[in-house]
Formats: sequence, C-alpha cells, structure tokens
Amino acid sequence: MEASAAPMARRLMDEDTFTKNFNNVVWPKETYLCYEVELPDGDSRVPPGRDKGFLPNKGAYMSRTRRHSEMRFLDLISSWKLDQKLCYRVTCFISWSPCADCAQRLAEFLWENSHVSLRIFASRIYTKRKYGDYEAGLRTLQAAGAQIAIMALEEFEHCWETFVDHQGRPFQPWDELDPKSRYLSEQLQHILQPTAPPSLPPLYFPPSHPVPGPSFRSLRGSSG
Ligand SMILES: [Zn+2]
Repeated sequence: MEASAAPMARRLMDEDTFTKNFNNVVWPKETYLCYEVELPDGDSRVPPGRDKGFLPNKGAYMSRTRRHSEMRFLDLISSWKLDQKLCYRVTCFISWSPCADCAQRLAEFLWENSHVSLRIFASRIYTKRKYGDYEAGLRTLQAAGAQIAIMALEEFEHCWETFVDHQGRPFQPWDELDPKSRYLSEQLQHILQPTAPPSLPPLYFPPSHPVPGPSFRSLRGSSG
C-alpha cells in the first residue's frame, strides 16, 4: 500500500534507458517521449503529479496493440479534457521525431485544441517512410503551430535533471553529441523550409474592366 500522507513520487527513467534511447549517435528501435505540461492558474484537469512524465512506444514489434509514444501521449492528454478557457503549453522531448502518421495526428490535435501549444524537441530524425512521407508530416505539424527543433546539450541536460533517476550524478555528454545535434538541426531546417512557390503569373487587371480596389474576386479573376 502506498503512503497516503506524502504525494506520490513521480516515476523516473533509469539512467541506462535514457542514455540508450536519447543518445543521438545510435539507432535504437524503441522510442521514448518525455513530456512537460505548464499548468495555467486555475487548472484542475491535470491530475497531481501527471504534468511531467515519460512514455515509451508500446509493443514495437509485431504487436497488434502497437502504439507509438506520440499516440500514447495524445491518449493521455485527451483523457484530461483540458479546460478550453485556459492555455496550456506542452513540451515533448522525443528520442525519434514523429513519423508521418503521428505528425498528422498531432497536427489534428492542435487544430482541434487551440488552447494547447506544443513544442517538440527530437533527439534524432525518424527517416523511415514506412508510415508515409515523414518530411511532409513534419511540415504539416509545423503548419499546425508546433515548434519543432533538435535536442542540443541544454535539452539533454534538462531531460536528465527532470526525468531520470540520476541519483545526483550530472549528465555525461557522449562523444559527438554536439556535432551530431548541429548536423541534425541543419537537416531539420532543410525539411521544414517552405518550398519556393511556383512562379505565379503577374497580377493583371484588364483595362476594360477597371476595379476600384483589390478584392478577392478581382485577384482570382486575374489569374485565370
Ligand atoms: Zn509514429
């Protein structure tokens, strides 16, 4: 039985699990997601102690109950039925960036929940196309308002301090952490850059149909 007087201790990740999964120069098969929700004044929807936590993906291999960690997080946050009158800031640190499926679902969540803002820091970029076009997925997620970035030393240290059972030991950066983080950051920026629009025909208002000022109808009429 749990002691009822003290608040329940938050579950922490063991050091090896963190290092194995968030190391940005290795390729683990699992995904871990750490989340933090900044609770606005007046919030009564997020259960005590649940504003921070971590979720691995579930049944990664050949399982019918497979659930990516982002989906598990959406299940969780949806179950809270966050107060529509308040604004919540959510930060996720994910060992792999969202696949196309998860990016789409996260984007839909943001479109439907304008009172929630989302920042995502990824340790590595998930580049398999098994679930669709991951690059388009990340752009969709960004277009839905999410801020997406690659984890740098500061984020690794923050996660270590916040989510890991480190027993007082400081975070030990691995070799190549910084250059790999910079490289991935450049890759991500390349992915998220809006593609140049195709050259548009110049706006043209036929002199025989003068219009007093620009309007949607005149703009549309001029292009066809
Ligand atoms: Zn996914």
